[in-house]
Amino acid sequence: QTFLQRIQTVNPQLNAFITVTEQQALEAAKAADAQLAAGQAGPLTGIPIAHKDLFCTEGIKTSCASKMLDNFIAPYDATVVANLNKAGAVSLGKTNLDEFAMGSSSESSFYGSVKNPWATQAVAGGSSGGSAAAVAARLVPAATGSDTGGSIRQPAAFCGITGLKPTYGRVSRWGMVAYASSMDQAGPMARSAEDCALMLQQMAGFDSKDSTSIEQAVPDYLSQLGDSLQGVTLGIPKEYFADDLNPQTAERIHAAIKQLEKLGASVKEISLPLTRMAIPAYYVISPAEASSNLSRFDGVRYGYRCENPVDLEDLYKRSRSEAFGDEVKRRILIGTYALSEGFYDAYYNKAQQIRRLIAEDFQAAFQSVDLIIAPTTPNPAYDLGSKLTDPIQMYLDDIYTLGVNLAGLPAISVPAGLVNQRPVGMQLIGNHFSEAKLLNAAHQFQ
Ligand code: GLN
Repeated sequence: QTFLQRIQTVNPQLNAFITVTEQQALEAAKAADAQLAAGQAGPLTGIPIAHKDLFCTEGIKTSCASKMLDNFIAPYDATVVANLNKAGAVSLGKTNLDEFAMGSSSESSFYGSVKNPWATQAVAGGSSGGSAAAVAARLVPAATGSDTGGSIRQPAAFCGITGLKPTYGRVSRWGMVAYASSMDQAGPMARSAEDCALMLQQMAGFDSKDSTSIEQAVPDYLSQLGDSLQGVTLGIPKEYFADDLNPQTAERIHAAIKQLEKLGASVKEISLPLTRMAIPAYYVISPAEASSNLSRFDGVRYGYRCENPVDLEDLYKRSRSEAFGDEVKRRILIGTYALSEGFYDAYYNKAQQIRRLIAEDFQAAFQSVDLIIAPTTPNPAYDLGSKLTDPIQMYLDDIYTLGVNLAGLPAISVPAGLVNQRPVGMQLIGNHFSEAKLLNAAHQFQ
């Protein structure tokens, strides 16, 4: 009730929620009370959470912040949602995002922009901006997010919270509306690494309904949070500290590195030579996959349908034209172009080759370091509207997050101080399935 009340008073200023499920939440809370009384509490019994509005939730609108799905009531729960329900968590609702998770500022939502709780004239980041703002403003202690190219880490950085993007295949994608399937990965967003560990523990695990889910036991993330950083080597990639990086942000990250050294870690400069290539590779591969994934929204099966179509062609055309926003259309066009005959080798294949080389660069780095440390973003949160007219400028800001997704690696963003009263995120990147190490390092730092 406390959190629902807080949502009621604070959310109108932030626009972090698309749907608040008050009735269902109060019923679930009652059930949680009964479980507690009966001594049958689960690991998250009674803990209020929220879901990014691209996780299907049975009987509850799942809009993806698009007019296309404004009328869509999911007929089933995503595996992540079901897992958290089973653990006893109580969902308070669905959070705002960039339309179909395409964006870095949560400004492309059909329901309007999310505002940053630290400065309401600033963006909350994206695409999981609603989850980040909700956690930062204490509307909910933890929330789910998804990260295809930075969408958990970047809004976590902009809003001063902790967000973990797990190894590709660690968390089931079943029931998560697909953007770029080869990179989409769900993860926790919370106030601390410890809370992220609590959430991930329940979210992670093999799921036969997701063909890319990996059959590997989930370690006990909490029990490893006390490990010392003595003997841990952190790699500092010189390309992540180059001209793109705001000098004040750099200062905060260097201070964080000093603190980690005090905690026992040693540091070493490394090189990830193809860092800049991650942007063109990602912005070919992700629209290509999106153009294919979004072909299902045809005005026939579900979602928006235009009025009085004259024939099938008109139905497809008008339903899609009327219901998709500009950024989604831009990406469908780019993706369709890159996949078309005659261009496939020049764009899509080339991007896939670069993707492989980027993954190899990371593997080479992990021969000599345990974790990589870097900024999450080149700059802190910018003002709403300031980058809307230049999408390329927005894409360039994803420089430090995209490589991780192309390589399927886990990474965490941790608050590392303020620049001009706006939060800065430090990013730790690990090798596949090193979530425990990442959470431990972040926890020691916090
Ligand atoms: N900003 C990136 C994009 O626009 C990443 C989005 C995401 O991770 N979903 O595609």
